[in-house]
Amino acid sequence: METEHFPPAFTIIAQAQADDKKLQNTLNQLPMEYKQGIHHEQLIIYFKNKIVIPIELQSRMIEWYHEQILHSGVSRLIESMKQHFHWKTMAKDITNFTKTCKECQIFKRQRKHYWKLPPKLHDIHPWNQVCVDLSGPWNKKTTDDKTITLLALTIN
Ligand SMILES: [Zn+2]
Repeated sequence: METEHFPPAFTIIAQAQADDKKLQNTLNQLPMEYKQGIHHEQLIIYFKNKIVIPIELQSRMIEWYHEQILHSGVSRLIESMKQHFHWKTMAKDITNFTKTCKECQIFKRQRKHYWKLPPKLHDIHPWNQVCVDLSGPWNKKTTDDKTITLLALTIN
């Protein structure tokens, strides 16, 4: 699976969870903590309402989110990811990954005092959050001296 496919679709997460025998055992052994729920028509395993990420998706997940938050450091990545996801060694894995990221090492000093941004993560559920930017109106003169009004709307 290539990086472009991240964040992974719920079908991929559900499949990887189903293939993870250890996770399936844990689900049976700790029914108070691990629960299953249907999300986007997929049976997803949650740990305390966080989506459990199976081992085969973990490192790519970190890599993808690390890029998304623009290499802004270990604690911000941990804060962002733990809002939605769970696996036991997540914090440790994030720390190790960030230590070995070449770009982070190169730009470490320069960016140390900047990028103090709060944790932010794209909502993984499509259309849960919609951001709208409005600009204008602007009045523009056309070549034949009429006035037209322009308004711009961006949705993402
Ligand atoms: Zn980095």
